[in-house]
Amino acid sequence: MEITLLGCAGGRFAVFRGVRRAGGFLLREGDSLIHIDPGPGAFVYLNQLKIDPRNLKAIVLSHIHLDHSADLNTLIEASSDGGKLRGPLLICPRGAVFGRDRILLPYLVRRLSGLKILGEGKEYRVGKLLIRAVVKHKHHGVETFGFSFSDELIYISCGKFEESWLEKYPKGVKVMLVNTTFYKKRKYIEHLSVEDVITLAKNLKPKRILITHFSLEILEKGEENVAKEIEEKTGIETIPAKDFLNLEV
Ligand SMILES: [Zn+2]
Ligand SMILES: [Zn+2]
Repeated sequence: MEITLLGCAGGRFAVFRGVRRAGGFLLREGDSLIHIDPGPGAFVYLNQLKIDPRNLKAIVLSHIHLDHSADLNTLIEASSDGGKLRGPLLICPRGAVFGRDRILLPYLVRRLSGLKILGEGKEYRVGKLLIRAVVKHKHHGVETFGFSFSDELIYISCGKFEESWLEKYPKGVKVMLVNTTFYKKRKYIEHLSVEDVITLAKNLKPKRILITHFSLEILEKGEENVAKEIEEKTGIETIPAKDFLNLEV
């Protein structure tokens, strides 16, 4: 399995002041190409990387916040070649498609080759990949999920850390990709901090940690320094994300 990060920015300021790229990440396993959390710029970055969106088999959305979903509609249009081809399978929270806050344009539903609504513990197969919605996160009132991909990669998306995660996320995976938005823990902000990442790592014991989704606070500290600190405190190799980073899982 191969991960390509389109960007490494997270939250409002680092993303929307354009300090780093956003756009989520791609997973490639055999001939399956999946896009997770296609935030702003995803379509442009795919083109820069010469990745044809028509090859996308599925799009997975952890939650509807704009830094994770801004290019969802564009990618569906591009991957279905404007309706000429069968588009991707969309795996997303219910609120992305139904209800007042829906973000998927209704006329694009027919471009999809399938639609799966996320539920805690549910599994979805895309080619050789088995995607599991491991646990629902508390994240500012928006339905948000964390994922396991074939129990080799876990994606700990945005949210407030909860002890129950330590029982739910699989242990000993090859890579723990974690949205490490803040350096310091903040009581009223439902995002992960470095302290949370260290707790997760010590309990889940992944082989490697990939930190991403950086706020300005992390970027000011230096993402390399933050990764080094996590590595020293956990004894686990920790890689700081970079825009367009490629990693073999
Ligand atoms: Zn986010
Ligand atoms: Zn969010």
